[in-house]
Order: sequence, then structure tokens, then C-alpha cells
Amino acid sequence: MAPPAHWRRAKERYRLLGSKCENCGSIYFPPTKVCPKCRRKGKMVQTEFSGRGKVFSYTIIHAAPKTFEKYTPYILALVELEEGPKVLSQLVDCRPEEVKIGMEVEACFRKLFEQDDEGIISYGFKFRPIDDSWRNKQSQN
Ligand SMILES: [Zn+2]
Repeated sequence: MAPPAHWRRAKERYRLLGSKCENCGSIYFPPTKVCPKCRRKGKMVQTEFSGRGKVFSYTIIHAAPKTFEKYTPYILALVELEEGPKVLSQLVDCRPEEVKIGMEVEACFRKLFEQDDEGIISYGFKFRPIDDSWRNKQSQN
């Protein structure tokens, strides 16, 4: 039996990898095989993000699909990475009333969700506030 897809992709998830076009310098996350700007002229190479960024916009999720129900309410943030690309991700270690636009955040490796049927747990990136004063607060997960 082949290992589940989420394990085969674990390395990419852990390192927060994207792709960079050597022709025009554009950086993409998630990685793309083709540069939308250069198309066939583009040459894509793998690039690793620092994992740091800031909250560009966010929304508080009160009603979620069944798999995420037990985490509600949670913060879904659009994080603008230092390198430019924006990533939609859950924001943890932060209460819904505490999140702010422009808040500095960093990627952390967390449990994404547990599947009900087979008990499969997926791991991946979430973001948390960088400011040390947030660290002592209890994680939601
Ligand atoms: Zn390009």
C-alpha cells in the first residue's frame, strides 16, 4: 500500500515551500508549475518561505463544515508572507477578539483536522502571533 498522500507531502508542508519564476521573479504559494505571467518563457524553481508575515485580512468562523465544527469559533486569516504571496490559514494561539489587521504572525506546524471515519489526522501549517506576550495564552488545540 502506498503511504497516504498527506505523508508524502509532509516535507513540503513542514518547510512551507513555494515556487519562484526565474524569468520575472514572481513568487507563488502554493507552488505552481507554470508562471501565469510568463507561461512558456517562465522557469520555475522551488523556494522556501521564512514563515513570517502579517495579517492582511481575517474572518471569524462560527459555523464550519462538520470536520471543523469542534474548533469553532476560529480565525481564518489571509496572511501576507514577507516574500509577498498571501496564504489563507487558520490563526491559532489568539482569541477571535484579539486578532488585528497588520498583526505579525509566523507559521507553525499543527494538527489540521481529524477525519471522523478513519481517524486520519492531517498536519499542516497554521499561523500564530509572533509577539511574545501572546505565547503564554492557551492554544485552542
Ligand atoms: Zn514569470
